[in-house]
Amino acid sequence: MGKWVIICNPNEYDVVGTFNVLENINWKQSTDIQKGDLVYIYVTKPYGEIKFETKVIEVNLKEAVIDDSKYVIDGSNFENYGRYMELQLLKKFDDGLLSYDSLKRFGLKAVQGPSRVSAELEEFILERTSQLKQINDRRYFFVFQNKSYDEEYSGGYLWAPQLGENGKRNSHWDEMKNVKKGDLIIHSFFKKIVAISVAKRDVFESERPLELPDQWNNKGWRVDTEYFTIKNPIITSDHMNELMKLQPTKNAPFNRIGRGNTGYLFSSNKEMSEYIINETVAVQKTDNEKKALLDLLKNKENKTIESKLDNELIDEIDEVLSSLPTQEVNYKPEPKKRSEAIINGGNKTYPRDKKIAANALNRAKHNCEIEETHPSFIRRSSKTKYAEPHHIIPMANQGSFDNSLDVEANIISLCSNCHNQIHYGNEAAELIETLYKKRREELAQAGIPICLEELLKLY
Ligand SMILES: [Zn+2]
Ligand SMILES: [Zn+2]
Repeated sequence: MGKWVIICNPNEYDVVGTFNVLENINWKQSTDIQKGDLVYIYVTKPYGEIKFETKVIEVNLKEAVIDDSKYVIDGSNFENYGRYMELQLLKKFDDGLLSYDSLKRFGLKAVQGPSRVSAELEEFILERTSQLKQINDRRYFFVFQNKSYDEEYSGGYLWAPQLGENGKRNSHWDEMKNVKKGDLIIHSFFKKIVAISVAKRDVFESERPLELPDQWNNKGWRVDTEYFTIKNPIITSDHMNELMKLQPTKNAPFNRIGRGNTGYLFSSNKEMSEYIINETVAVQKTDNEKKALLDLLKNKENKTIESKLDNELIDEIDEVLSSLPTQEVNYKPEPKKRSEAIINGGNKTYPRDKKIAANALNRAKHNCEIEETHPSFIRRSSKTKYAEPHHIIPMANQGSFDNSLDVEANIISLCSNCHNQIHYGNEAAELIETLYKKRREELAQAGIPICLEELLKLY
């Protein structure tokens, strides 16, 4: 499938107005464009951005058949080209999403007529339009808990009053309002980094928990967070030079002379948090300890559930396979409505359809999609070659997508060795990239577009 950008001058033709009313339009056709190709429409000033994604549904029309004459503003440049295509509107992009400023580094300025979408531009469009943006929006915090660590740790929360005794607000309490589910918090207790936690839900208003000293006002902010205690804590003063270089400029935890600021919650950032976690990892004694800490950095809270659910699917699939006809699977990737989440052992999960997984395996003829020749064996009941279904975009991320992730486009057939490598291997990224390249197109067609960078963050 080819992908193109075409340019539209809204002073000559009001394409925005047209697409408010019509689904399909005719357009002058350029030689190479084919039925099924995607065409992005870049609308010049005052818009200055890609506004539409369309699909070519007819080519080589002798004349324009759709009447859009009332949207022609200046027809003086108009001539009969004798060759038209029909474009069907697929998506309208929000204002500013794909604007000229961000596009010009892809050389769009020089573009006059239709031109092919470059690989960089394609990746950029995916990155900007992906529904997974919130993963990049993770924020980092640093909390001083000298007065309340034990109580807050036992209760699994952070708490701060909204106002001080004098009725005034405080920036280090106000910072609580910025904490959202999935954010990472570094816990300091008398200069030691004693815990790292990940917020379980967004901040909410809450009365002061009874176990906290009543020196504070009752009305406050609370963040429920999952504490991971550190067996061998590092001491911040041993790392002060680095920390001062890395800490954010606004609401930073340490002052100019390298002392902790007076107060409760401060901003951290990715760099400082990574530094603290990596230094902490370096002094832990067990591999499990190290791995768990690094997982926090990668926001892997859902990872163990993911492989557990994978295994349930693997256990049950042989039976499903034996009941399915063995003929070739006809699958056309298209958006499918997602299922509602279910609560499974206290965790929110999304159902996986065994039949779809079985279809996906049949589609791949039960070969490993990393490499067909990878060794396998024959299944007991279905007598098919043994392969395991894996969701490329992990099902744990279903909440970020409007369309279902449980579709053949997103399920890949793997030998058990490759499957384990993807979940537990050090070089998983290479395998994921290989699979991504095979399925990028189909994922987009199934309404679950994602760029490689974001996909890798999910593992
Ligand atoms: Zn898997
Ligand atoms: Zn394999």
